[in-house]
Amino acid sequence: MRFTLALATTATLALTTVTVAPTGANAHTRNGGPTAVGFGGAVSTVDATATAVGLDVLRRGGNAVDAAVAAAATLGVTEPFSAGIGGGGFLVYYDARRGTVSTIDGRESGPATMTEDIFVDPADKLPYDFPEARVSGLSVGTPGTLATWEAAAKKWGTRSLSSLLLPAARVADQGFPVDATFRQQVADNAAAFGQFDSTRELYLPGGAPPAVGTTLRNRDLADTYRLIATRGTGVFYRGAVGADIVRTVQHPPVADDPTGVWAYPIRPGDLRMSDLRNYRVRYPAPTKSGYRGLTVYGMSTPSSGGTAVGEALNILERTDLSKATITQALHQYAESTALTFADRNRYVGAYTPQPVLDKLISDGWAAQRACQINPARALTKPVPPGDINASGCTPAPVGGPVEQGQSTTNLTVADRWGNVVEYTLTIEQTGGNAMVVPGRGFLLNNEMTDFNFVGTQGTAPDPNLPGPGKRPRSSMAPTIVLKHGKPFLALGSPGGATIITTVLQVLINRVDLGMTLPEAMAAPRASQRNSPGIQAEPAFHQRYGPALEALGHTFGPDVVELGAATAIEFTPYGGLIATAEPARRGGGSAAVVVPRR
Ligand code: GLU
Repeated sequence: MRFTLALATTATLALTTVTVAPTGANAHTRNGGPTAVGFGGAVSTVDATATAVGLDVLRRGGNAVDAAVAAAATLGVTEPFSAGIGGGGFLVYYDARRGTVSTIDGRESGPATMTEDIFVDPADKLPYDFPEARVSGLSVGTPGTLATWEAAAKKWGTRSLSSLLLPAARVADQGFPVDATFRQQVADNAAAFGQFDSTRELYLPGGAPPAVGTTLRNRDLADTYRLIATRGTGVFYRGAVGADIVRTVQHPPVADDPTGVWAYPIRPGDLRMSDLRNYRVRYPAPTKSGYRGLTVYGMSTPSSGGTAVGEALNILERTDLSKATITQALHQYAESTALTFADRNRYVGAYTPQPVLDKLISDGWAAQRACQINPARALTKPVPPGDINASGCTPAPVGGPVEQGQSTTNLTVADRWGNVVEYTLTIEQTGGNAMVVPGRGFLLNNEMTDFNFVGTQGTAPDPNLPGPGKRPRSSMAPTIVLKHGKPFLALGSPGGATIITTVLQVLINRVDLGMTLPEAMAAPRASQRNSPGIQAEPAFHQRYGPALEALGHTFGPDVVELGAATAIEFTPYGGLIATAEPARRGGGSAAVVVPRR
């Protein structure tokens, strides 16, 4: 989302007016555009307002964590269909003074009453259709985003959570311009949003999506942020806001239906105050794997992002991609991710034992999997998962499911002290479960539909079935890469299961295929997740399709775009290259504290 931001009327934001990058010569290195180069700290998000708020925090002496929380809170206003306090996420943090990487798991957790068959219709014993499960109370997990912000600010930040919520509250109060992406997201959700009074009122003013260029205000959310700023997060996890969340889940605010038939039956859920009260973020050790002399840190379970990125990189490391033809490099990329997704689907869920995760991300396992790749011929998809107990090149006999998604948002922040935050946050689908909590101004997540509705692994156990208090498997892959112990690259993206392939593709574009970071971000993308066809952007399909098809790859229906990544590269002597998407999702916004002249 990119637009001219003139928030200079508010004193605190006066310094951070960001303008649209022109398409001229400086387009690639101007603060607020898709790439900014300089020093002293950097912010990259999908949205110019959020980037401006984060940059302002850095300029005023806040650190990367402070800026990340303030930017994330702003995304809750300006990117409400992707992220907000009704959802969850994963944050990876590099602490420059300690030289350590830590993580926060702020994933939504299932209600204590959740049963394995929650998404199976008792009437016919069949799994619900996805939209029916999504637009319901059943799909809502206990939100973890606010607890993530509080934990990050307390552990590593230098500002109070309250002060970090206030700039976002101001944006919500004053409003922000509706752009084409925002309008389209509402239009795509019009049927679901229209079913709830609260959502309709906020996002379908006058019964239609807001027009591009109009100002959208969210005073309820401004009040909610200010209430939390004054009273603390207890008002959310133990108080009035929590009570409203629970009421919304148990008694969805369904509008009167003028036609008599809503698209979905809107089943209530059973989230309770005790679920909110008992919610805790977790601090799992990051995943860690080596790649051509770099050390790659990622998010461990319940996200599969870290292990999947690590496994695929380990497989790819066995071929020198920099010397391979582009066709061979992309062939290896597609095969590595197909094998990795088969393994992920079989083995990775919230409760996967650590030794299994360690094995999946080991070089030995990569050797067992890579040996199946034939440079001259694509494997038939789906490929079976590897047998974790076998040695040698032996696959087991069952394939896995195919997943996709395109909600969520990502941000990357670095400060002048060298601390780095990589943070992916989401409410799952674009628009979450479509219910705005009445009077509170934020949408609820539908993260529970990230569980498999029924087993997907034949007779083998499925690691991602629903369970009480359980967190669904994610694909979010906030990643920080160190070189000689210092940050080299931080990156992440939305995109459901394609997050993993987008992060991988940007990494290999940058590390192996000779691209600069802005080039690596802009390059056309493709995603092979162990389905018969590669899912590709049209430009990728056109450019590389024929050569890959000659190797036996097939392509699924093309997709307009994959991911909406943000990244920062750390160059010698404290230099920073902050990047966002030049075009996907309407273009992102990167900025640095001291731009290079
Ligand atoms: N819910 C998804 C996950 O955690 C993210 C959704 C998306 O990026 O579209 O993997």
